[in-house]
Amino acid sequence: MCCDLKRRFLLLYATQKGQAKAIAEEIWQQAGSHGFEAEMHCISEMDKYNLETEKDPVVIVISTTGTGDPPDTARKFVKRIQDTTLPPDHFAHLQYGLLGLGDSEYTFFCNGGKTVDRRLQELGAQHFYDTGLADDCVGLELVVDPWIDGLWLALREAFLLQKEKEGMSSNADTISSSLSAAPHDMDELNLSSEVRNLKLEDEGVRSSDVLSQKSVDIHLAASTRDTEPSLVHSVPPISQSVLNIPALPPDYIELEFQDTHGENPHLSSLISEGTAFEVPVTRAVQLTREDAIKTALLLELDIADTVFDYQPGDAFCVMCPNNVIEVEELLQILGLSEKGDYFVFVKVKQGTKKKGAAIPQHIPERSTVKFILTWCLEIRAIPKKAFLRALVECTSDVGEKRRLQELCSRQGASDYTRFIRESNVCLLDLLHAFPSCKPSLNLLIEHLPKLQARSYSVSSSNLYQPGRVCFVFNIVEFPTCPARPVSRKGVCTGWLAELVAPLLHANKNTLNAKGGSPSTEKISIFARPNNTFHLPADPSVPFMMVGPGTGISPFIGFLQHRQKLREEHRDWEFGETWLFFGCRHRDRDYLFKQLRCFLENGTLTHLKVCFSRDSSTAEVASPKYVQEVIRLYAKEVARVLLQEGGYFYVCGDKKHMADGVSDAVVDILSMEMEVDKLEAMKILAMLREAKRYLQDVWS
Ligand code: FAD
Repeated sequence: MCCDLKRRFLLLYATQKGQAKAIAEEIWQQAGSHGFEAEMHCISEMDKYNLETEKDPVVIVISTTGTGDPPDTARKFVKRIQDTTLPPDHFAHLQYGLLGLGDSEYTFFCNGGKTVDRRLQELGAQHFYDTGLADDCVGLELVVDPWIDGLWLALREAFLLQKEKEGMSSNADTISSSLSAAPHDMDELNLSSEVRNLKLEDEGVRSSDVLSQKSVDIHLAASTRDTEPSLVHSVPPISQSVLNIPALPPDYIELEFQDTHGENPHLSSLISEGTAFEVPVTRAVQLTREDAIKTALLLELDIADTVFDYQPGDAFCVMCPNNVIEVEELLQILGLSEKGDYFVFVKVKQGTKKKGAAIPQHIPERSTVKFILTWCLEIRAIPKKAFLRALVECTSDVGEKRRLQELCSRQGASDYTRFIRESNVCLLDLLHAFPSCKPSLNLLIEHLPKLQARSYSVSSSNLYQPGRVCFVFNIVEFPTCPARPVSRKGVCTGWLAELVAPLLHANKNTLNAKGGSPSTEKISIFARPNNTFHLPADPSVPFMMVGPGTGISPFIGFLQHRQKLREEHRDWEFGETWLFFGCRHRDRDYLFKQLRCFLENGTLTHLKVCFSRDSSTAEVASPKYVQEVIRLYAKEVARVLLQEGGYFYVCGDKKHMADGVSDAVVDILSMEMEVDKLEAMKILAMLREAKRYLQDVWS
């Protein structure tokens, strides 16, 4: 029998964008139905828990930032456990299970979780459950869902072992006989989800076979003859399965519609990272030819009247609105077309069952409906299963309801991955596909994440162009696919492209082209907390830069800065500089042909360029990719890095490029130092640690 008393465990989360928190909340919610009670805290609330004296199992959910650091909320905690004076048995009493979240598009996958896990182990803490590492690139839920499912059994075992240690259980037989109760508990688990299913049926649908084995004939009417599954249509076995669907997340937001009087908050109030500056766009240049596969634009902003400051190598954030047409469409579906300009007062629903319910930080207490949909919510986000689960309740058509249940169920996990995650389906796509689904604005506020500002590397030098900051970006394009009949552009890059269209100069491909008439368009930007991607402090140190495509952007800033320093300090010694650049075609997307100027005036010592799609006329095929070019200069790379204490910078938008480059450098180190690959990898790790091998990679 299960014990009557709920068994307590400590649940800590360290979140950057809210995902770790949402997952911890899911664990917190499920805990009760498994006979546990989770005491949940943000890991930063160190006054509310004490690991030094903690006796119960600890569950930690922790995400990772793009640079591989633990989230800001975990900084203090990490600093504390990294105290080198702590003895190796400091946490010998502690049992824990850790779920790390990350994105394998970035180099230091799940590094936040790994760092904490490693350190807890070093301090003697024991795993009561294997560490899970979830990858946002393929879908967090692929690891998160089974990890949570397995957590309950692991916790049960941990408590039994704990009891045994405390002498409450006299011998090991008790443990094994108690453990054999687990399948019974699992039955309870299945039963409870069926009960939930039945409840669902009670609440919404009259049809008694909605979730039964015989539900095969209630798919979307139009698709009944289809044999292929799709977003809206399922086939056996899932269409015939009894479904385990997640519990309905409790609602917690209440809206009070007011009138149209008042002003929306300043965009600065939406960010926690300092001040946003509204600055004019003074120049826009299309760097690629019309026939290039991607369109790259350079924008110049006037920051002269602000205190916004930067160094070459910094990135900054652009606050972008959602697409106007998409916002209008949403308003229409929500039945709020007439109320877009109405102010709403956002409150936490009285008596909500949601633990720690609070108005999301990115939602102003009072603003218009349009403002919320335009500036606050990431309406393009891929809907999470909990959101789908909540949408079931707002859907009137029986077939649509069933399909939404399937998509959020355990049985429908692969359909979810295929038709939602991999197809990058967003809320609007769903609402078009399931027309009887009519969610409320509160539900959107509860489930859609914050509309994040987009980061861009500066592509200029404050010495070279005082009062100006430039950046370069590709307009992101998403073609149509079966789940989405319309093509789309990236939220930010699509908006920027539209905004600056009147400014674009006919003379493309030239950095120094003067734009058209002065612009009145303004955008809001704010500084991105710093990174280490800066020029070496000592100008006499040599450095190499690898930046294919728009990855060249920060290096333009480096070179402009270096040129100015050389002009101003003729007596200084300057180390040699290398730039490896690559693009598809010499004529169409060679972004900065004036790199030659840097070469001619001596700012750049070596420029190595490759074109991946131009056919080679030479007898020996020329290298297509930067990583291949680097290999041709193995001796120089080894000399700069190993003998001359130089720096190596990599920047670009493709994980494969960055990995390809580091593979090439490992091979070079291995060859030039005559050491095996493992040793070479260690040397590269040391160079990274010493901040002499630096990456600025985005997906
Ligand atoms: P979004 O709408 O955010 O879409 C981008 C991503 O969403 C896609 O890559 C894809 O993963 C996914 N996605 C969304 N919908 C779909 C769909 N329907 N189909 C397929 N995929 C979809 N970018 C630059 O161009 N230049 C820079 O200098 C630069 N510097 C950066 C520096 C840093 C530190 C970081 C973190 C990022 C940088 N980026 C840079 C990337 C930049 O921040 C944006 O991510 C990029 O411009 C796309 O933004 P967007 O809003 O236009 O696209």
